[in-house]
Amino acid sequence: MAISRRKALQFSGVFVASTAVNGYSKTDNLKPPKSLKTNTTYDAPIPKAKGPRVVVVGGGWSGLSVAKYTKIFAPDADVVLVEQRHEFVSCPLSNLWLVDKIELEFLTHDYLQAARENNYTFFHATATGLNREKRVLETSNGDIAFDYLVFAPGIDYDYSRWTDDIAFETRLRQEYPAGFIPGSEHITIRNKVLNFKGGNFILTVPSGNYRCLPAPYERACVIADYFKQKKLKAKVILLDENNAITIKKKGFQSAFDELYKDYIEYYPNTKIQNIDLDNKVVETEFDEIDFEEAAFYPHIRGAKILERAGIAKDAKNMLEADINPLTYEVHGEKNIFVSGDSRPMGFSKSGNTSNSEGHHVAKLLAQKINKTKEVKWQPPTTTCFSAVSIAPERAIYIYTQYAYNKTDASFSFKSTSASEDWKKDGEVNANSIYNWANALYNDMFNK
Ligand SMILES: Cc1cc2nc3c(=O)[nH]c(=O)nc-3n(C[C@H](O)[C@H](O)[C@H](O)COP(=O)(O)OP(=O)(O)OC[C@H]3O[C@@H](n4cnc5c(N)ncnc54)[C@H](O)[C@@H]3O)c2cc1C
Repeated sequence: MAISRRKALQFSGVFVASTAVNGYSKTDNLKPPKSLKTNTTYDAPIPKAKGPRVVVVGGGWSGLSVAKYTKIFAPDADVVLVEQRHEFVSCPLSNLWLVDKIELEFLTHDYLQAARENNYTFFHATATGLNREKRVLETSNGDIAFDYLVFAPGIDYDYSRWTDDIAFETRLRQEYPAGFIPGSEHITIRNKVLNFKGGNFILTVPSGNYRCLPAPYERACVIADYFKQKKLKAKVILLDENNAITIKKKGFQSAFDELYKDYIEYYPNTKIQNIDLDNKVVETEFDEIDFEEAAFYPHIRGAKILERAGIAKDAKNMLEADINPLTYEVHGEKNIFVSGDSRPMGFSKSGNTSNSEGHHVAKLLAQKINKTKEVKWQPPTTTCFSAVSIAPERAIYIYTQYAYNKTDASFSFKSTSASEDWKKDGEVNANSIYNWANALYNDMFNK
């Protein structure tokens, strides 16, 4: 059968389009991409370092400040930030988003902007391993040789104290996420809250130095307030493994008693013994509590990459970084550091603490790069606002610094001030939440 010229062109158009999808066409004569060669190792596709290369793993509150301030204190350094997420979503203030008080846009920030404005390279990849001898970080998108390496990867969950059944753990992670690592977990919890029709909503507080001590209590308050505004027949049941509220106790306790008497039931000193997900019942030593919805916050540990990189230690089952607490250097290494929530020191695992620590770690790096005189240990600072109500907006506040005790090589609180009277100072504190967040976002993402 003869084909007309018009048909032949149509046909060849389809041919070109369909082959272009596969990446090849006779007409453009493309060679297969190099990555299709069967290499077992390959270099990350980033420009050659123009100065001492500093690689930072983790673009959270600590890693972002390490990357920015290293470049400020040591302008010759070639800084690469390796982060597995595409965009930054803030955990601080996320409780307000769960109850529709603020927009997601307020929490979301642009890694590319941070890198552009602060003259470093953002490399989207997951760090998967470390070759210490060769000084190479292995990532999902290629290897990066470094002169200095900083791990700031935050935390992972540890469900092992509740279960060793991986299928059950997977159900907990998927159906009742904790919401202490940002992303889908928060979206799930938000949908649970906004669609709640009534009954019991369980939240839990783990023991140990868990991420953001006040956040579970803040979350209980704002969710209870949301239910109260909606006049739902609903209760937030807060099961706390600790003997009492772990921080800002006066402020939270008075909010529970005075604002949410009919909406929050607080159970201190409560260990969960069993969770029946099919019948939706939690068993504790003394009670059986049924629930319609829940967010189960398990114990935490240092992020798993520390273990894979061979720089984790098992301190009180927390598997945190094995570092010198004063120099932030990994034991036995002079050029590998850890900063932020995966540190083993008992500082508050907070964004403010991690950010201020990041500034200091950048100074330590700059001192090595610039070969200047030794930098003295500097305590991180914890400044933390927590909402206790959303209508009207009221908040409480704490500020803490730390001291190092040489005699027993331990840390303690050096100075602490708090403002927990939400009836008196709550409105001013509530405004300060936004000022604080804007200041810190500005510090991490702008020049
Ligand atoms: C609900 C909630 C409320 C909070 N409220 C406050 C508050 O009001 N004030 C406050 O100061 N703090 C608050 N915090 C605590 C604060 O979010 C954390 O302490 C802070 O995020 C810790 O910073 P970080 O840099 O150590 O870890 P993160 O911020 O978690 O950053 C770690 C980064 O490393 C990345 N990463 C991990 N592994 C890899 C890998 N292998 N490869 C590449 N990237 C990797 C992660 O994706 C992540 O972006 C709150 C936390 C929560 C959950």
